[in-house]
Amino acid sequence: MTTLGHLINGVRVDREERTQDIFNPSVGEVAGQVSLASKATVEEAIAAAEAAYPAWRDTPAAKRARIMFRFKQLLEEHADEIVRLVGQEHGKIVHDARGELARGIENVEYACYAPELLKGEHSKNTGPSIDSWSEFQPLGVVAGITPFNFPAMVPLWMYPMAIACGNTFVLKPSERDPSSALYIAELAQEAGLPAGVINVVNGDKEAVDTLLDDPRVQAVSFVGSTPIAEYIYSRASANGKRCQALGGAKNHAIVMPDADMDNVVNSLNGAAFGSSGERCMALSVAVAVGDEAADTLIAKMQEQMKSLKVGPFSDKSNDFGPVITKAHQEKVCGYIDSAEKQGATIVVDGRGVQVPGHDNGFYVGGTLIDRVTPEMTCYQEEIFGPVLLVVRAASMDEAMKLIDDHEYGNGTCIYTRDGEAARYFSDRIQVGMVGINVPLPVPVSYHSFGGWKRSLFGDLSAYGPDAVRFYTRRKTITQRWPSAGVREGSQFSFPS
Ligand code: NAD
Repeated sequence: MTTLGHLINGVRVDREERTQDIFNPSVGEVAGQVSLASKATVEEAIAAAEAAYPAWRDTPAAKRARIMFRFKQLLEEHADEIVRLVGQEHGKIVHDARGELARGIENVEYACYAPELLKGEHSKNTGPSIDSWSEFQPLGVVAGITPFNFPAMVPLWMYPMAIACGNTFVLKPSERDPSSALYIAELAQEAGLPAGVINVVNGDKEAVDTLLDDPRVQAVSFVGSTPIAEYIYSRASANGKRCQALGGAKNHAIVMPDADMDNVVNSLNGAAFGSSGERCMALSVAVAVGDEAADTLIAKMQEQMKSLKVGPFSDKSNDFGPVITKAHQEKVCGYIDSAEKQGATIVVDGRGVQVPGHDNGFYVGGTLIDRVTPEMTCYQEEIFGPVLLVVRAASMDEAMKLIDDHEYGNGTCIYTRDGEAARYFSDRIQVGMVGINVPLPVPVSYHSFGGWKRSLFGDLSAYGPDAVRFYTRRKTITQRWPSAGVREGSQFSFPS
């Protein structure tokens, strides 16, 4: 059994006193251990990043982009190994892990575009013989802290663009499934990054707090649950750092009475249960407008869910795999218990699902719960499991108010055939990412990803154009080269 260490200054380091088990959730057994970095180890990684920064900052952007291009090729060449590592530790099925990697690679492709994105702005003759321009300079050492649910993709939201912009990076991946992030960072190194430009420290709160407090770290990108996102944002900001902290979600889909119900059922099935619902863009609440729509939805969903197949990540015939840990399995089942106690109707019950030959795996079957109301715990909190709640609303405005009143505002979707209703919805809804007959409206890499309300702390979203802004700061330069003949005397007033 191996213990996973860190990547610091271009080499693997492993010397921690504290370790934690990594599980293979498909079988429910320990698959290895991960070292939990001490404060001293994280400080060493920050020092390596700081030392690498001046030369990296001065490396032409086109050369930095060329390394990203080579990195993309290596990610494609090593996709099978990355998918295996993700599947083994996270439990998501092979096709889904491949999709996750593809979305990560798109962010590397966008980073290849850095020389174009960093061109800045120029104005000639802003005054007599005066030129002025703005350029986007890197920040220095920046850090990323990432969640378990997209162990390969979310780190790729962050460091390819940060590094292409001229920063150096310290990544702290999730300690629950850390292998793919470390493996991928080594591919970035192989692509040609100088030692110290990308560093990975595995660990827990001690590592995170060190990154948040160290004055050498200029900015922090975080993706994870809302309570931790809020903590990260407060502490990083109090320490004077730039911070973007993406949090949890409770994504609602409004199902209008005129929607194509077969399409709704097909797409809700994948969006609610895919990856065991462990996606921040999972659709976890369907708000049916009118009882007729609700009854049809429930009947069709119930029928469709008979063929749902849950099982180990490696079996390509499965629709989704286990949840991440035993504790999370119990937590998800606890939400289903609470819904039942609080008066909802459990239409399809995924508690106690049996997966032959994998009795100890952390499985929860697809679950459908009807007649959920906003007072229920299962509605208020993020379940992060394969559980779809159905809430019944009398009108579209009532359905929209439910969404607007919820603390989260990550993603949402409307199913309708009415363009006017769709436009009204997308114009007014208080959510950052909106789908119209699109269940998971995850922006492509050349847009940016971010929710509203308590799904994002900070001003700039992840990846895309916002990432260029987040990982650089604007400097505006005004220049004049006076010749002997045009020297002026002192000026005490603004020129008018
Ligand atoms: P998490 O908040 O438990 O952990 C995220 C990271 O924070 C990990 O690296 C972890 O080590 C660290 N961390 C955990 N507790 C900490 C503490 N007390 N102090 C300092 N650091 C701490 O999240 P998770 O369970 O790994 O991921 C699932 C959550 O992430 C869900 O809520 C999901 O919605 C959210 N998520 C959001 C997005 C988004 O883009 N908004 C994307 C993916 C996941």
